[in-house]
Amino acid sequence: MEREKWVVGNWKMNGSLSHCYNFLDFFQNLQCKEPRFFSSVNIGLCLPYVFLPFVSSHISSRVLQIGVQDVSEHLSGAFTGEVSASMVAEFGAKLTLIGHSERRQYHSESNELIVKKVQKSLDYGLVPLVCVGETLEERESGNTESIIAEQVEFLFKLPLEALSKLVIAYEPVWAIGTGISASAEEAQKIHHFIRSFLKSHSVSLQSLSLLYGGSVSAKNALSFFSQSDIDGALVGGASLKAESFFDIVRLAAV
Ligand code: PEP
Repeated sequence: MEREKWVVGNWKMNGSLSHCYNFLDFFQNLQCKEPRFFSSVNIGLCLPYVFLPFVSSHISSRVLQIGVQDVSEHLSGAFTGEVSASMVAEFGAKLTLIGHSERRQYHSESNELIVKKVQKSLDYGLVPLVCVGETLEERESGNTESIIAEQVEFLFKLPLEALSKLVIAYEPVWAIGTGISASAEEAQKIHHFIRSFLKSHSVSLQSLSLLYGGSVSAKNALSFFSQSDIDGALVGGASLKAESFFDIVRLAAV
């Protein structure tokens, strides 16, 4: 099976209604002018929840697949501040970002919790984009592969059929928002490790899409996209401007 290409933006806690409006306008126009980019790459955008109803009702998922940056592990009930997978699906979300390092770090999200959130996303037909990655300390103590293996291993608590619907992003924590990306060779090494790890559990998983994230920009994106195990990118800062985000999409389509 051919692996799908993805470029997914993560706006984190940024943006405004007028920003959404201008961003959508830019992408809508581009889709009319350059439709080929939209058929060769899945373009996703993970937004703060409040923008979801407006954005998803103003753009077709053939142009942008709208996602959120987290979902609750619960379905409904007394969980103040939480938002469920069924709610975001009803308002047009197609993707959920699960286990981003900022959630792991600032909200103490564990691998166990992440698996529950992935399952809830799948229950409502959402594509979970699961983030894995090591901290600087783990990297410097030579533990990158064992940390990644532990994070990926947890996903095997899900049935194999569910696993085949995931997208995984390798995001070294030290590269997120720092302007210091991993080198393309380093990133390829870890992507290859993840792909081999998945394959060793089931050959069917070797065709999962694996994305690199961590200070990706139009300047370095092609070096990542040229690697044999990298199928796209998860983009934070450079996804806030429609032009710079589309420049990355364009490179993925090459
Ligand atoms: C991210 O938020 O997942 C990310 C990779 O951010 P940045 O591209 O800004 O490093």
